[in-house]
Amino acid sequence: MTDTIFALATAAGRAAVAVVRVSGPETRAVVAALAGKVPAPRLAGLRRLRHEGVELDEALVLFFEGPASYTGEDAAEFHVHGGPAVVEALVEALVNLGLRLAEPGEFTRRAFGNGKLDLAQAEGVADLIDAETEGQRRQALGQIGGALSQRYDRWRELLVHALAMLEAAVDFPDEDLPEEVAARARPGLEVLNAEIGAALADVSRGRRVRDGYRIALVGAPNAGKSTLLNGLAERDAAIVTDTPGTTRDIIEVPLVLGGYRVLLADTAGLRETGDAIEAEGVRRARAWAQAADLRIWVFDGFHVEQSSGEGSDLLSPGDWVAINKIDIADAMVVADVRNRFVARGLTVEMISAHSPDAIGQFRARLTSHVTSALSGSEFPAATRQRHAERLREAQVYLERALSDVGLEVELAAEDVRLAARALAKITGRIDTEDVLDRVFSSFCIGK
Ligand code: GDP
Repeated sequence: MTDTIFALATAAGRAAVAVVRVSGPETRAVVAALAGKVPAPRLAGLRRLRHEGVELDEALVLFFEGPASYTGEDAAEFHVHGGPAVVEALVEALVNLGLRLAEPGEFTRRAFGNGKLDLAQAEGVADLIDAETEGQRRQALGQIGGALSQRYDRWRELLVHALAMLEAAVDFPDEDLPEEVAARARPGLEVLNAEIGAALADVSRGRRVRDGYRIALVGAPNAGKSTLLNGLAERDAAIVTDTPGTTRDIIEVPLVLGGYRVLLADTAGLRETGDAIEAEGVRRARAWAQAADLRIWVFDGFHVEQSSGEGSDLLSPGDWVAINKIDIADAMVVADVRNRFVARGLTVEMISAHSPDAIGQFRARLTSHVTSALSGSEFPAATRQRHAERLREAQVYLERALSDVGLEVELAAEDVRLAARALAKITGRIDTEDVLDRVFSSFCIGK
């Protein structure tokens, strides 16, 4: 039998109100012991809490009768005055009454165990608690609402349907020829394969919303990367000097653009160097830039000879070039350089990192870029690495099933089963303990 757990659900420290949650079979008895009369389910009752003859606080008490509760079991909330001594006294009383402090994520784990939410929804709860931007909040809320789970459920249904046809053919081998079975099972599998392929092409969008869209400022030393970063961040995050090689490590600055989390990195100026520390900085800069979602090559318009400079090889079509220092650059020369970059499929912006107006316009264009990269008509199929991995696994099995279905029905059936299992792991319909541990250990206590 499960034990009864409790945790402080609000942040520790002084506050107007602190909420202590309780969940488990002893909940009703504990509420009665502390508050006297148990309030009617889901209605707040004002009660004096007492333990061993000592008054603890006057509190709002809520009782939820299982299964109509977050965890699916009997649960309660004590809304007490948010002073550390009050919370301490209540916690001591609960321990005295035989309750145990919850592990991180244990409330949500119980909710999962009792079928109140699936694994993807539980992850949405964790993401919503961590959400700092509008984009993260919307995505997490959609995930809790089942936007991600619904898609996986639909895909699993298609697989189960195909599987039923394949298994029928295996059980009654004399009645159906493999080609006939294939003809019936193949269309559904093909639809699914196309949908998973499309989802995989879009797989990083959800993760970018959750973890941040990564933009690397790259370019030669002294091009004005740090000035641009400080302008965009509206504070002095990076050191600006006219001594080349000043930025040696990567400075990551979190920004919010269009409601999305963005990580902007100022990297070491890319140049050949004999200095071991600077060389390491250059190596890291290149690695960060390669993994980023967008590279902005900051180009010194006053020193046009750098146009074939070190690092421009990192750019691919779709990346940006910010031609900087146009306040002192020669307009004709800059126009010529611009055309060369445009011909390479790069988006070119002319800026003066010193000018707040120019920075403002640059920021606006960057915002619309990030917004269109991260917003989509459909809810993303994956918001974590874990989802993307399982999705890829399912695709491998599905493709194998498709190539076997007209020849070896039994092998195809096994692959369809494996594909369904890979998708099921995302919502946790069938799962192993270690996946559960990984998901729930990232929770805070009290959730
Ligand atoms: P980084 O090495 O690429 O990070 O370059 P910095 O941001 O440190 O800038 C190098 C030098 O160029 C500094 O002296 C800046 O003040 C100067 N600088 C940066 N942007 C502009 C600009 O738009 N116009 C002019 N005239 N100077 C700039």
